[in-house]
Amino acid sequence: MNWHGTHERALAAYVGFAMGDALGATVEFMTREEIAARHGEHRDMVGGGWLKLKPGQVTDDTQMCLALGNAILARGGFDRQAAADAFAAWLRGRPVDVGNAVRRGIQNFMSTGALEMAPGGTGAGNGAAVRVLPVALLHLTDDTAFEQACVAQCRLTHHHPLADAAALALGRILRLLVRGEELAACRREADALVERHPEFCFDPYPGRASGYVVDTVQTVLHHFFTIDSFESCVIRVVNRGEDADTCGALAGMLAGAREGLLALPARWLKKLDPMVWEAARRQVYGLLELARREAEAQGQPAGPRV
Ligand code: MN
Ligand code: MN
Repeated sequence: MNWHGTHERALAAYVGFAMGDALGATVEFMTREEIAARHGEHRDMVGGGWLKLKPGQVTDDTQMCLALGNAILARGGFDRQAAADAFAAWLRGRPVDVGNAVRRGIQNFMSTGALEMAPGGTGAGNGAAVRVLPVALLHLTDDTAFEQACVAQCRLTHHHPLADAAALALGRILRLLVRGEELAACRREADALVERHPEFCFDPYPGRASGYVVDTVQTVLHHFFTIDSFESCVIRVVNRGEDADTCGALAGMLAGAREGLLALPARWLKKLDPMVWEAARRQVYGLLELARREAEAQGQPAGPRV
């Protein structure tokens, strides 16, 4: 494992995620036609949308990643109870938005203490997969530890094989990118997802970008693999409308990790809520330090401190 550049790629992933969220939220739940009629091509952080956001303001997607990341850093590792407590505190703070399945999951935990939703039901939304970033950075080199934490964090609110599979695949691709591995390895990971669960087939792209995790993952992977610029990738994704902020966040996460900080448009960075930049910077530092220690404990050459 070569740690050179890891910190920068991870920070670009986190900030890219927040940018996709803030840009997409303006057009969340609109159709492509409605977006085209209203914005032409939506490409600037102007806020608004159904949540009436300030320009550069993020939504539940980024907030839940930050809540999970904070819980990990406070404990020095992933702990289901600590993650559930953090989500409950977040919900009690009256967030600007919260998905239905996520609300149900957190309320279930608050009323029963259960750390896992019952299997099936309506758990195939994208609300668990969208939180994969902190556990992917925490367990950057340990596959088994990543898989366990990833599925455990999903099942706090969603318990469905497609939600698990989506989170695992997105997280594995993110880890490859942050570690600086080849794009071909990412493509193999995406193809392996489709082999296991043919529902996720994204080539040819079926064209839906809803909150159903299959639609979300198809949208993210199709645009990630066909557009090689961060800005164009995120713009094209959010202009599909539907669950634009969540799809935009995940596309921004992967494209950011691939292209690094210099690819993030300055005009978006100027608008993005500065607290988000600061929190992402602090979390990336902390999570990668834990990852480096985990690698060291397993006898891998730890490389320079990040
Ligand atoms: Mn959102
Ligand atoms: Mn959304």
